[in-house]
Amino acid sequence: MQNDKLIANSFDFSNVSFSLEEVPCSVQPLSFDESLCIGCGTCARVCQCDILFPSDKKGTHPIIAYPGECYYCGACVMACPRTGAISLNHPLRNRAKFVPIISQ
Ligand code: SF4
Ligand code: SF4
Repeated sequence: MQNDKLIANSFDFSNVSFSLEEVPCSVQPLSFDESLCIGCGTCARVCQCDILFPSDKKGTHPIIAYPGECYYCGACVMACPRTGAISLNHPLRNRAKFVPIISQ
């Protein structure tokens, strides 16, 4: 199971380095189409929740480090230059459709 798998990435920003683990979570807010994604990292840069971190594998999509923190704003999908490379998987509660109450 992917969430059980430790994902360790090391980044080296001159004299700063740290490692990253994916936090286990029951929600999967995003999915990537690896055939379309070019690994540009734009989605990670625009995410205001900072849940995405660049992969250490060049040309691949970012890691969803904190899936439970996504608030489904859609900014990452809108900013992606490759249509279909990243998709939002809205939870059921977000898909509810409110209908007006008709008075009699
Ligand atoms: S913005 Fe799109 S193409 Fe770029 S890394 Fe994210 S999903 Fe891939
Ligand atoms: S939908 Fe919004 S909060 Fe969620 S990963 Fe994309 S940019 Fe970040």
